[in-house]
Amino acid sequence: MKPLHILTLGAGGFIGSHLTSRLLREGHRVIALDTHADKLADVLDHRQFTFVEHDIFNHDFPLEQMIEEADLVVDLIAHANPGLYVRQPLDVFRLNFNENLRIAELCVKHQRRLIQFSSCEVYGKSLTAVCGDQLKEPHHPAHATFAEDTTDLIMGPVEKHRWIYACAKQLLERVLHAHGLERKLNYTIIRPFNFIGPKIDYLPRDTDGVPRVFSYFMEALQTGEPMKLVNGGDHQRCYTYIDDAVECIYRIVLNPDGVCDRQIFNIGSPANEISIRELAHLMRDLYRDEFAPANPQLPEIISVTGEEFYGEGYEDSDRRIPDITKARTLLGWEPTWVVRDLLRETMAYYMSAYPKSLA
Ligand code: UDP
Repeated sequence: MKPLHILTLGAGGFIGSHLTSRLLREGHRVIALDTHADKLADVLDHRQFTFVEHDIFNHDFPLEQMIEEADLVVDLIAHANPGLYVRQPLDVFRLNFNENLRIAELCVKHQRRLIQFSSCEVYGKSLTAVCGDQLKEPHHPAHATFAEDTTDLIMGPVEKHRWIYACAKQLLERVLHAHGLERKLNYTIIRPFNFIGPKIDYLPRDTDGVPRVFSYFMEALQTGEPMKLVNGGDHQRCYTYIDDAVECIYRIVLNPDGVCDRQIFNIGSPANEISIRELAHLMRDLYRDEFAPANPQLPEIISVTGEEFYGEGYEDSDRRIPDITKARTLLGWEPTWVVRDLLRETMAYYMSAYPKSLA
């Protein structure tokens, strides 16, 4: 395959930075846009790489020309941290829907292929969460195993404004689908299931932002403050190591025989399901055994309510397991990293990236 000229929007984030490194290693030319390049430090000098510092809300910018010149547009622009869905729902909507729609429409206009990052949040809650008492085996994984083209999407009420993120992503997917039907847009939608790895987030104390659970737990381990389980930590996630994820994304970039044209793909590790309570215990054990100084002061694990932790309007996805039959059959992809190893690797990165905070 001849090298592609790829425009990656939102390349400075966790997924974008790992994907950019891979694209450059494979010989492609990458033009990357973001408001910051901290996570792209390793590739800034690469001769096939151009970083453009730009805030997508600023429309006085030649985005259209950049899209026209690209062979492929990869759109990773998003606010994707649950704390933000509650604190700044309008910003989440404006960025995740309005701005991404503008990008999609430019891809339609210039008939460019678009890889759009969506989210497993579009599936919302599991069947067990809404009618568990009527199910024979409410905890059977089948009730929370989500397939791209057949599973119904279940959101909470409007006053639980956490769902604005999931809803914005879902609506964007529906509009891309419609553009595919009516205006021949060639898109591929990716639904990531809890990717994790080096560079996933900052630690909470370093910014005003709201990271994901891994960073909260790392900070607690390093400071000895309690690890907080929101609503008891019963909720379950399937963690997917970033290298596995990027391998699948790269196969989507290559798009052999057009198998990804107008398709949606789950990317996730169904075998890596773990509750947040188990995650807290596993991270604390790994920290004690492999990273802590001698005789560490290990944090206690406590429970807090969702409202205490996130504020009013919070509700959660209870359980989500990816059905990855499509990625397996169309792309020959299989995730390889197990939970303990991916946590160890990610923790090791954070221990070296934030050495000053060693307890
Ligand atoms: N959570 C928690 N303690 C924390 C941060 C998050 O128990 O310190 C919970 C959160 O309520 C959710 C799960 O951990 O049930 C995963 O949250 P995360 O922010 O990592 O993102 P999500 O998987 O919901 O996108």
